[in-house]
Amino acid sequence: MSMEEKTLLITAAGQGMGRASAIALAQAGANVIATDRDRDLLAALPDIDGRLQAKVLDVTDPDAVLAMAAESLDLDGLFNCAGMVHNGTILDLDDAAWDASLNLNVTSMVRMIRAFLPGMLNRAKQTGSVSILNMASMASSVKGFPSRTAYGATKAAVIGLTKAVAADFVGQGVRCNALCPGTIDTPSLRGRIAEAADPVQAEKDFVARQPMMRLGTVDDMVPMIRYLLSDESRFVTGQALLVDGGVTI
Ligand code: NAD
Repeated sequence: MSMEEKTLLITAAGQGMGRASAIALAQAGANVIATDRDRDLLAALPDIDGRLQAKVLDVTDPDAVLAMAAESLDLDGLFNCAGMVHNGTILDLDDAAWDASLNLNVTSMVRMIRAFLPGMLNRAKQTGSVSILNMASMASSVKGFPSRTAYGATKAAVIGLTKAVAADFVGQGVRCNALCPGTIDTPSLRGRIAEAADPVQAEKDFVARQPMMRLGTVDDMVPMIRYLLSDESRFVTGQALLVDGGVTI
């Protein structure tokens, strides 16, 4: 099935990798529902021949998730991109910070998949194949990083969730994979650099952990995202795909 026939929904499409993939997938011909909690960011999305539809969705709002699933067409693809970084070791992590990371990084994906999967199963009966993509990270069960306790633990849970969903629905035409990027130059990374005590050193440190000696770009991520949401990846499921510029060589 071609991209032109697909309807895809992306969370956190207001900026960063979600935005870049929403634009690229609409340019590839898909009908894309670009969602974010930030109305202003959505308003700045370009028009791509009417194929990029922006809708406000805070993925931590269970009622809003259910309402969007009820009003949406049955999806061919769902990209759960929303997530956050808590900076700190376990000694810096109080219950409120842990709950916030778990809620956005994991529970929101559980709710999104649970809400949209029945429609996706209907669609899979017609087309044979639908795809769920969950945003994880190289900082997860794959590799530990300093000051990333809540982040690493919750992104590891995303990989576990991905494999569980893939195992349960592999016989019904549903594929489910996780993307594990390296350090990517996005607005939130720029925010983490700006908030550091020494921003110049902080940027150098982020670059130094990438063996190619540069940050990744959103355009480095888009081809893998497009692949995983297209039928080209029809024999790929339950995988955590690393696009990390060689960090985990
Ligand atoms: P970003 O962090 O710059 O932007 C995040 C977007 O998420 C914003 O538009 C924001 O409005 C939206 N958002 C935040 N909370 C939301 C909510 N509750 N509901 C809906 N939207 C919400 O973008 P990014 O850096 O590309 O990160 C996107 C994803 O990629 C995250 O899950 C992040 O953990 C993951 N990731 C990022 C990097 C990196 O280095 N940037 C690396 C690996 C994984």
